[in-house]
Amino acid sequence: MLDYKIENYEHILFPSSERSYDHTLDMRKCGKVTNKDDKNFVIHICLNNQQVNKTADLPYPHFMCNSTIFRKRGAGKNDLRIIVCNKSDVDKLLEKDDNYIVALYHEIGHFHYSDEQDKKYSDDKYRWQQIKLGKVPKDEILADSFAAKALGKERVIKALQTFHSLFMMSPDYNCDEGKRIIKEFELRIAALKKDN
Ligand SMILES: [Zn+2]
Repeated sequence: MLDYKIENYEHILFPSSERSYDHTLDMRKCGKVTNKDDKNFVIHICLNNQQVNKTADLPYPHFMCNSTIFRKRGAGKNDLRIIVCNKSDVDKLLEKDDNYIVALYHEIGHFHYSDEQDKKYSDDKYRWQQIKLGKVPKDEILADSFAAKALGKERVIKALQTFHSLFMMSPDYNCDEGKRIIKEFELRIAALKKDN
């Protein structure tokens, strides 16, 4: 299950001028993830500062907004799978920053387990209610366990703890959305520690 390969990593330095299939997103492909056992499975790693910065209305610390890798939601088996990142994510990946490598594997894990997603959690209100009850979305747990299997549990826990402290330092974290994010990190760390 872990036969994924990150290819063209070096091309991140020299993004191809080729546009992605979705012109409205105006993204440049700068890497891809393939699976040895499934030739149809490809995740494109795309660079798009504009798209990433659009998500920055969440009360994340600014440096986190520019360094969070996220994926296009709802990609089914035949859809285009994209992990979008911005320039600062790319720089961190090229530096081989371990926290960013963990974040990348977490995103690959979402695609790996895309059939197991609990769609109810895409509703923010539902998500917050569940998190208040101490329940983490199953797809986050699965994505973390995927990263843990690929990289080792300790590395994933360390990355989550780092992101957790970064959020704690944000002056904006003390709002509902901020509290949810903090709590979600804590629950994910606890779940990883418990899981053998
Ligand atoms: Zn996730």
